[in-house]
Amino acid sequence: MKLHFLGTGTSAGVPMIGCTCPVCTSDDPRDQRDRCSVLISWDDPGLRIDAPHRTLNPDQDRRRQVLIDTAPDLRHQAIRAGISRLDAVMITHAHVDHVFGLDDLRRFTAAMDGPLEVYAEPPVHDALGRMFEHIFHRHRNVNDSFVASLAPLALTTGQPVRLYGTTFTPLRLMHGRLPIHGFRIDHGGTALAYCTDVSSIPPESRPLLSGLDILVIDGLRARHHPTHFNTDQALEAIADLKPRRAWLTHLTHDESHRDLAARLPSGVAPAYDGLVVSTGVSEG
Ligand SMILES: [Zn+2]
Ligand SMILES: [Zn+2]
Ligand SMILES: [Zn+2]
Repeated sequence: MKLHFLGTGTSAGVPMIGCTCPVCTSDDPRDQRDRCSVLISWDDPGLRIDAPHRTLNPDQDRRRQVLIDTAPDLRHQAIRAGISRLDAVMITHAHVDHVFGLDDLRRFTAAMDGPLEVYAEPPVHDALGRMFEHIFHRHRNVNDSFVASLAPLALTTGQPVRLYGTTFTPLRLMHGRLPIHGFRIDHGGTALAYCTDVSSIPPESRPLLSGLDILVIDGLRARHHPTHFNTDQALEAIADLKPRRAWLTHLTHDESHRDLAARLPSGVAPAYDGLVVSTGVSEG
């Protein structure tokens, strides 16, 4: 199972509009951060993509691909990563930096000529319904051909969703006072967890965060923040949960990739846009 970081930045992205700081003007491509989302993918020998829906990338004709969050940069992220089909979408929470690219799913449903399942907990679906009336309340729209065909499905905390041999289990995280979802993802005896936008991990979620090959966790910046882990808090959680490897995400312009990487302990690194990591030793 692979995890492809499509975006690793905080809500304003990096570089930020109008900022001339050393990170926002850095030449290092790892300092350019779109808003947060990841693509989870795995081989599925049973997958058959027939003409005319074959992709430009033959690798995608035999891999399942699930997108977590639809960031405002989704179109750019999908083109940069060469993503032309999706099997499902999971949403962590309805903040603008995680969902405002939802409209771009229309190109996937047009290219795949079918609906796409979007998994989120009911309050998130309610928010999406208000934000994207033209998608979820079709009677208000004049031209259906420009609208994504999305099938909303409800997530329940702790209840696994099985997709083509891989299990996605939504787990509760607190994002300030807002309850949101992280995900534990199990495939072929390997496991990863994606925990963006978190400032505390409730005790009941800890069992789902044990035995991980990969943990991706919010590590916003060095300074304290009321609704996100800072670097030290993220490192405390990593030391507590003991994943095999960990990556920090949702990063600001406060610190360059190079400076942050230099002060992290072994086994922990800053994520960056375009990074692909694998839970298996043999699977590339
Ligand atoms: Zn800056
Ligand atoms: Zn958020
Ligand atoms: Zn966020």
